[in-house]
Amino acid sequence: MSLTSSVLPRRLILFDIDGTLVTDDGAARKAFAAGLADVYDFHGDVRRYDFSGRTDPQIARMILTDAGWSEGDVDSRLPSLWSHYLGGLARNAPGSVRALPGVVALLDALLAGERSTLALLTGNIEPGARLKLGAIGLNDFFPFGAFGSDSPRREDLPPIAVERAAAASGHAFRGADVVIIGDSIYDVRCGVPHGATTIAIASGKTSAERLRSENPDYFFESAEELEGILNAIAG
Ligand SMILES: [Mg+2]
Repeated sequence: MSLTSSVLPRRLILFDIDGTLVTDDGAARKAFAAGLADVYDFHGDVRRYDFSGRTDPQIARMILTDAGWSEGDVDSRLPSLWSHYLGGLARNAPGSVRALPGVVALLDALLAGERSTLALLTGNIEPGARLKLGAIGLNDFFPFGAFGSDSPRREDLPPIAVERAAAASGHAFRGADVVIIGDSIYDVRCGVPHGATTIAIASGKTSAERLRSENPDYFFESAEELEGILNAIAG
């Protein structure tokens, strides 16, 4: 059966960004560290922390509460952190961000199939997500999404994406119509309570073994496994 067949169910496909769609050669981490230094006078080594799958507010809280800040004091300066971070990211992202292997072919194939609605599900605050994807012209694939600026809890994000998909497409996606694609254990975990299909791709910092142990519905080493991923999405 052709993947473009209209008998295939419509899918809402939610993509993580870092380690799934793109890698940035440390550009975001550097901008984040500079923001932490400017706004919180934090000068520790952010490389000690694993950002994978965490939302931007969670990352700030993780690092700064470890350094003795209260969550309330962290949160009160987040708007200032985001402004410093986004300034740094706007300078760093061009030339640092690149699409991971197989990603553009996968996105093209999904759009050509006409049964797919693509969106983002990412811990990035939205303007940070747009800067990263904009650096390599990928924003047009993703007219909307759910972001770390919508909630610090990744598990809150799938219903937000579903609501925005309904508003954008006029189609009410059920849990079983939703596919979440990501490179971290938190991408897998956030899909489970919503009945979404989870696809883990080991193209980020999390090991294949660790990802598999989270029991995603499907596992791939890379987005280059195009046919397998398209079949997994079709269900
Ligand atoms: Mg990721």
